Amino acid sequence: MPDAIPAAAPDLVAKLALANRILYDQGVVDGFGHVSVRHNASPAHFLLSRNLAPALVTPGDILTFDLDGNALDATAQRVYLERFIHGEIYRARPDVQAVVHSHSPSVIPFGVTAEVLRPVYHLAGFLGAGCARFEIRTVAGDTDLLIRDRALGRALAEALGERPLVLMRGHGSTVVGTSLEQAVYRAIYAETNARLQAQALQLGAVTYLNETEAALAAATNDGQVVRTWALWARRASDRA
Ligand SMILES: [Zn+2]
Repeated sequence: MPDAIPAAAPDLVAKLALANRILYDQGVVDGFGHVSVRHNASPAHFLLSRNLAPALVTPGDILTFDLDGNALDATAQRVYLERFIHGEIYRARPDVQAVVHSHSPSVIPFGVTAEVLRPVYHLAGFLGAGCARFEIRTVAGDTDLLIRDRALGRALAEALGERPLVLMRGHGSTVVGTSLEQAVYRAIYAETNARLQAQALQLGAVTYLNETEAALAAATNDGQVVRTWALWARRASDRA
C-alpha cells in the first residue's frame, strides 16, 4: 500500500489543468503530449492528467502519481503510457518542478538531423544551455519510440542530464522547468525558436546568441514568465 500523502493544493491542480489548455492553444500539444507538476506537499509525487487530450483536461482529471509511475487515485482510469518520462526526471532532477512532453512539430527536425537547436533570439535564451539528445535505438533497439517503462524513463532522464530540453529522435521532445510557468514558457519558445531557426538557415549563415547573451536573456525572461502565462491563460480560457 502506498503511503498516504496530503491532497495536492487545489490551486496547483487548477493551474496544471490550465497549463494543458495553454499548451494546446499555443500549438505545442495536440491530441497527444502531456504536462506534469511536482506535488506541492510531497516531492516524491507528481500531478498529471488521466489519459486525455490536453485541451480537454479539467481539474477533476488530475491524478497523483508516485515516481515509479503508479497512480495513487486511479481506480479504473486510464493513465498515460509515457508517464515514466515524468517520474524518472523528477527522481533524477530535484530542481525540476514541472515537465512538458510533446511532439511539437518544428522541433522534430532537430531531433532527426545533426543540426543543433540553438537560440536564434532572446526569448529562447534558455536554449543556450544546450539541448540533450536521446536515441532510443541505442538503449532498446527497434521500438515504437514511446517511453513505456521505467528503464526507458531512466535512460531519457540520464540523456537530459542538467539541461532544460531533450530531443527524442523520431518522436518529440521533453522540456523541464523550475516552475510550471517556466516549463510551459520553454515548451512554447522551443517550438517558436525551432521554426525561426529553420527559416533562418534557409536564408544563409545564422548568427546565434552567444553563451553570455543566451544566459543573460534567459535570466531576464525567467522574471517575465508570469506575464506571458497571464496572456496565454486568458486566451486559453476565452476559447474553452
Ligand atoms: Zn510522446
